[in-house]
Amino acid sequence: MPAQLELIRGRVLAPDPDKRRIAAWPDALIRIDPRGRITELCAAPADCELPETWPGAVILPGFVDCHLHYPQTRIIGSASGPLLPWLQRSVFPEEARFAEREYASVVAEEFCDAMIAQGTTSAGVFSSSHPLAAQVLLETLDRRGLRAVTGVTLMDRSAPDSCTLAADPAIAALAELHERWHGHDEDRLRIAVIPRFGISCTPELLRRAAEFADQHGLIVHTHISENHDELEVTAELFPESRDYLGVYDDHGLASARTILAHAVHLSDDEWARVVGSDLAVAHCPDSNFFLGSGCMPLRTALERGVRIGLGSDVGAGRTFSMRRVAASAYDASLVREAMVEPEQLLWLATRGGARVLGPATRLGCIAPGFDADLVAVDVPGHVRELGETIDALLFRHDAGPVRATLVRGRVL
Ligand SMILES: [Zn+2]
Repeated sequence: MPAQLELIRGRVLAPDPDKRRIAAWPDALIRIDPRGRITELCAAPADCELPETWPGAVILPGFVDCHLHYPQTRIIGSASGPLLPWLQRSVFPEEARFAEREYASVVAEEFCDAMIAQGTTSAGVFSSSHPLAAQVLLETLDRRGLRAVTGVTLMDRSAPDSCTLAADPAIAALAELHERWHGHDEDRLRIAVIPRFGISCTPELLRRAAEFADQHGLIVHTHISENHDELEVTAELFPESRDYLGVYDDHGLASARTILAHAVHLSDDEWARVVGSDLAVAHCPDSNFFLGSGCMPLRTALERGVRIGLGSDVGAGRTFSMRRVAASAYDASLVREAMVEPEQLLWLATRGGARVLGPATRLGCIAPGFDADLVAVDVPGHVRELGETIDALLFRHDAGPVRATLVRGRVL
């Protein structure tokens, strides 16, 4: 385990805890206690002798990827969409391989490497339906020092037998993972209840998933309203429910602990209920472009007060980089409605995600009391002013690699 840094000096971009704003500190000191918590952020004194920790880089909170799939790491870029045929042609054959420990283990390392390389410190991760793969993933995330909310992916229909698991063994596996991992290392690893989506789950499995989540106060993470064919099939499978969100509502899965990925085609009425019940949304614009799903109305959703984070949705998303995802969010907002400011997008990729995945009191800000989950990113030397720095971070894909990724002050 690398040594923990106690004092960092550099250019800092510090998101506001509540408003979608970012404060620039041209030359700052960040002090970190032995537990990896920030105790002070202040301007470096004129006679400061500590050299810049990463010269030429800006320091910001680690990126939060609210939605991605570990067993899809090796099928990124499989151009076999749209959604439903892509699942059958590319996803299920690959996810079936995660029944084997050896394969799950090799890919888990690749998955962690990729997140660390892009400055992601915390993620909401789908595994496969195989309990063993979730176990291997959690062991690997633990060893690599990353933060995650994950679990076994629940699916008991509409996929090959090699990818499904019946309700009894699935809930038993969930209970075992919960017992072993939930809250591990001061909440660095947590277990979520993850029904893939309505199409993949029988009503019985949905109900039992909800019971388990309620019993233990767990995050529920699922997909919603990504693609028109998916909407049609869902309506056929759940004729009693008033709409797609109604499917989750009717089975007890829609609450302030719920994260909905995509939400591209929600009706006005569904959006009103998302706001009313404080459901969170993981916006996955790069994936939505690649599968031709459409563009979520981000600007309107933000104006309505929806709690939103960004998700790469690897492997429908083509990158682990949350900076690229934010760039896609910018494009999608222009296509669908009107521009969302880059400053707001960078806030969503850091603090916004922390408010979705949690714990919100400890992540996504650079301020006393917050964990020192940080990323240092190079920016071109001539870029100084806040607006142009954010533009460079998000939109200049050929410049500015990640220099260092830290969780609780330790470089990963
Ligand atoms: Zn997904």
